[in-house]
Amino acid sequence: MDREKRLRADTPRTDPQPACDPDPIEDNSKRTFLRAAGVLIATQLLPQALVGQNEPGQQGHQGVVGSGQKVVVVIFGGVRRAETFSPEGLENIPHLAGDLLPKALFYPRVSNEGVTAHFNAISSILTGNWQRVDDWGKLSPTTPTVFEHFRKRLGVARSDTWVVASNKALTSLIGASSASDYGPAFGANVVFPKQLMINAVANALRQGRTGNMADRAKVQAELESMLEGSNYEGLGWTVFDAAERLDPRVRATIEDAITSFVRGGGPTSGDELTFFVSREVMRRFSPRLLVVIFSDVEVAHFGSYSLHVAGIRTGDRLAYQLWQEVEANPEYRAKTTMVILPEFGRDPDGSNTNGFFNHRANEESTRITWMMALGAAVDKPQVVERPVRHIDLCPTLAGLLGCPSMDSQGAALTELRG
Ligand SMILES: [Zn+2]
Repeated sequence: MDREKRLRADTPRTDPQPACDPDPIEDNSKRTFLRAAGVLIATQLLPQALVGQNEPGQQGHQGVVGSGQKVVVVIFGGVRRAETFSPEGLENIPHLAGDLLPKALFYPRVSNEGVTAHFNAISSILTGNWQRVDDWGKLSPTTPTVFEHFRKRLGVARSDTWVVASNKALTSLIGASSASDYGPAFGANVVFPKQLMINAVANALRQGRTGNMADRAKVQAELESMLEGSNYEGLGWTVFDAAERLDPRVRATIEDAITSFVRGGGPTSGDELTFFVSREVMRRFSPRLLVVIFSDVEVAHFGSYSLHVAGIRTGDRLAYQLWQEVEANPEYRAKTTMVILPEFGRDPDGSNTNGFFNHRANEESTRITWMMALGAAVDKPQVVERPVRHIDLCPTLAGLLGCPSMDSQGAALTELRG
């Protein structure tokens, strides 16, 4: 059997597959690699997710608890309104502005009044309280996340709550708080696909199973460039042992996929991989609450405006593709609300923090962005000019999922109805 056929044969599929596959990647080997990586990472996580379903006192997602509604949240990293929802920015977001805005509930003024660093911003969004913990995710949020609230109050399984993230300023501590009576026992599955892939590649290299020496040299070079490419903000990935747990069948498939990837050549985007893994998680586990965190835009920390804008375009396309999956996938269609928002903006041009490079200034450009909601909870498309806050999203999501109200600083957005 040739490699392509073996990959296909080894790749478990979830039937029925949604008919719509808007994947725009034309390079077949890269597509094969990304798809295989998504499938493989989901496979690695399968035992954990199944354990989640069997936890004592927890119901699987077949149980009728809560509203029966699903929620997908897409978080973008830091993007200014100037490069997105402004007259000059619209060209960077053709899908958000052209395809999605006409059917969306849109909030043009959404403020981050907390710490404008990644871990704090995202944990504020996920808890409904402004969090001021370690910027690099060394400490959990201090009040319960929506995952914990949902799981504890309604007896929902871990397999129903997922975070899939590109941003390496996050750690798995984003999935649960340090609040007493809550914590990791009620947390979400948290996945960093690029980290898993790097570990899988490193492991394959260590095992010397990447084919002939020429291939190994290419894999080494590719791995190094990936590691360099992810080294923004000066923090390396932490060592992760997921690759050590691969079973031999999965490992063999990874090696085939790596070979295809190396032969295909060309850099790949962390957000593309995050998208593929997220879609695979939707198809395999159909979680009721999925949070997808993109971060290609954070290449801005390197100072390249054109790469930053390219990251915005990638995020625009991938968010649209996730929405297409929601509409095509029978587990999601007509019962899902999808919310898209940036973590914050970026600093204004001419600021003493290097403008778009960073997101530290206490200015409107950094603090005020936007939010878009689509799907089941949207009665009618409209623009809501009223200023809202990031912390208002969490109690809103809890309401959509049928949870009792949360004790949070945020207030539920009345325009979104479950
Ligand atoms: Zn950043």
